[in-house]
Amino acid sequence: MISDPLLHPPSSRAEHATRRAPPPHRRRRIVLALGTCGAAALVAVGVTFATGDGRGDATGTNAPAVTPVAPTTTIAPTTIAPPTTLPSIDAPGTLWWLVNRDRPLPDGYVPPDLLTPNVPLKPDTGATQVTAATGAAFEAMLADAAVAGFQLQLNSGYRSYEQQQMLYDRFVQDYGAEVAAQRVAPPGTSEHQTGLAADVGLVGLPDDQLFGDTDASVWVTTNAHRFGFVIRYPPDKAHITGYDNEPWHLRYVGVELATELQAGGLTMEEHFGLVPAAAEATTATTG
Ligand SMILES: [Zn+2]
Repeated sequence: MISDPLLHPPSSRAEHATRRAPPPHRRRRIVLALGTCGAAALVAVGVTFATGDGRGDATGTNAPAVTPVAPTTTIAPTTIAPPTTLPSIDAPGTLWWLVNRDRPLPDGYVPPDLLTPNVPLKPDTGATQVTAATGAAFEAMLADAAVAGFQLQLNSGYRSYEQQQMLYDRFVQDYGAEVAAQRVAPPGTSEHQTGLAADVGLVGLPDDQLFGDTDASVWVTTNAHRFGFVIRYPPDKAHITGYDNEPWHLRYVGVELATELQAGGLTMEEHFGLVPAAAEATTATTG
């Protein structure tokens, strides 16, 4: 079952990461993200702004008709929400929402905009949906992968709390509570419940072969960030993420953050300063 993408090994630590707002140097980046990520990100945080269609201005005067101008993406500084409402690792549904064993989802969370992307699906998957933005990015990535010669598929997307509970219970029944606790994310803590995670697979890959051993996996590792995905649980980061290497588990975070994480070889926990003290100590002692 080691090739089963549903498996999520447990955290090796009990430390609880503290919640922190992004450091000051990040806040500027957040504002920049708002300027580049477009309407979706703005809607996500409830920001309103002028449409730039030339009709009606901020003064409310009945100014004479003017020469139409092309729509602009300029956002008046006064319309940008205060930092407390900007996308953050704490805001459910936003790009940088950070979910792990220590940071569970809100009770009963269901993504508001689930859909099944137009991509090949693992035949027996019961989790074909992801959020709309995740699906669009996933479609784009798989189209590019096809050009490169790799026929990828969606193995598992959104899983409800109840589905995760069933998965967990099944492992308890089959392997015992101890094994289940080590290999499956407890319900309420799986990134799959966010709708922002997508397990990628290779069409036709035999059950006895691991995705991580394929050239397709190399392509995904090299290219996923261009479409806004990060490999959420990379090798040698289990002491930080709480999960062993899962080269198939992608998380949609947007191109900007994905590119930055890729360039720095960082996990979300490291990027946002949420490395558990125990992990930092481990890093320090091992150099
Ligand atoms: Zn996964």
